[in-house]
Amino acid sequence: MGGKVYLTGAGPGDPDLLTVKALRLIHQADVIVYDRLINDEILREAKKEAILIYVGKEDSLHTLPQEKINALLVAYAHTHDTIVRLKGGDPLVFGRGGEEALYLSKNGIAFEIIPGISSAIAVPAYAGIPLTHRGINTSFRIITGHQTVFSEDFDAGVLRENETLVILMGLHRLDKIIRSLLYNGLDSSLPCAIIENGTMPTQKQVFATLDTIVDESRHIHSPALIVVGETVSLHKNLEWFQSL
Ligand code: SAH
Repeated sequence: MGGKVYLTGAGPGDPDLLTVKALRLIHQADVIVYDRLINDEILREAKKEAILIYVGKEDSLHTLPQEKINALLVAYAHTHDTIVRLKGGDPLVFGRGGEEALYLSKNGIAFEIIPGISSAIAVPAYAGIPLTHRGINTSFRIITGHQTVFSEDFDAGVLRENETLVILMGLHRLDKIIRSLLYNGLDSSLPCAIIENGTMPTQKQVFATLDTIVDESRHIHSPALIVVGETVSLHKNLEWFQSL
């Protein structure tokens, strides 16, 4: 009888945004394999004898290659009961949770997926930006600004009318991303926000338009996400979160 791997979302940063189920599993875990953006406060919930393994990934710099992480999970599943694979936000939103689940499944390892609150949803909320809003926007799209396997160049595609765009992992290519959006016909006066360390006491945000955002956000660092669309301007009335 092998153990089980729980592919678990840790939420966007603020430990209070962890799900009850994730917290219960962290309390039970014999092994926790965790990523870069996991708050220390969450890890302190682990039992004293739990084995904690950091396999953190920077946007492009992987501390441990994915194959090694996969192999590690399988190995621990053979020797321990409860393995929590803890990922920032939601494990299936740009978290490679699907790849790990496929590998576990191929190797006959039991697993569960515990969804987490994705930064793509929570961070705009903490900046007072509704992703949809009646009369303004009817859909939103979450994309990666990271270089994809499909193309060297960033291509956001054409923004649909009434759509909000949330771009993860895009800060280091902000110039290119904004140029691509303008090239695809977006109005340079479209509201745009960049939020760093969202949901945390250190949260910082910049509100601008497509033509000014690059200059306005020079002091912003990773982790940060970009939101583009008309609902961004609602922050003027909806900003509620007091950061430090
Ligand atoms: N699975 C995660 C996303 C992983 S990709 C989720 O669902 O949230 C990592 C990217 O998420 C970062 O480069 C950044 O763009 C974004 N991100 C994660 N946490 C963030 C935070 N607290 N504030 C702003 N952006 C964040």
